[in-house]
Amino acid sequence: MPHVLVLNASYEPLGVVSMRRALILVLNHKAIALEDAGTTLHSATGAVQAPSVVKLTRFVRVPYRGPVPLTRRALFARDHGRCVYCGAAATSVDHVIPRSRGGQHRWDNVVAACRRCNHTKADRHLADLGWRMKRPPAAPSGLAWRVIGTGIKDPRWRPYLEPYGGLDQFRDFEHHDHPEAVLPAPVRTRPIRRGEQHAPLSA
Ligand SMILES: [Zn+2]
Repeated sequence: MPHVLVLNASYEPLGVVSMRRALILVLNHKAIALEDAGTTLHSATGAVQAPSVVKLTRFVRVPYRGPVPLTRRALFARDHGRCVYCGAAATSVDHVIPRSRGGQHRWDNVVAACRRCNHTKADRHLADLGWRMKRPPAAPSGLAWRVIGTGIKDPRWRPYLEPYGGLDQFRDFEHHDHPEAVLPAPVRTRPIRRGEQHAPLSA
């Protein structure tokens, strides 16, 4: 089943939920569908268009969540799935300042790398090898990362996410039009926190 982008009543991206959860929101009038997925779902009571993007009917306040969580998936999204050193397909995570030399596991010290570069670099500094990066790694920012960080992509989401940051990453949407290809595991999203109104999303 495809996933569905959930927007706040203000159009801010909140996260990604399963089709089932999105349908429950729509059927309970907690959300309206903005974009159809192009398929029809049949139930005992009738047929309904499967949504691809839904918008909550009531605004929910989302507490500040701090930086984008550093996950392999989010890191590969930031670096476009390419080795930052040579441009080959990335298969591993490299610590720019090696951990053995005190480098930390933080956005500004990790990059996507191919196995070859990672192996060649081993526990050396870039300067030791004469390697350079186009730009220093940095933590991504912008509300769109609530979605980009999950690694789930659907080209229909693009116009809704684009105003919220991570513009570069949206070029990748064109090359990965099949969300199932990047869906190895169920994604947990918690768009709404405890103490807030919309119980169905926080279940
Ligand atoms: Zn490489």
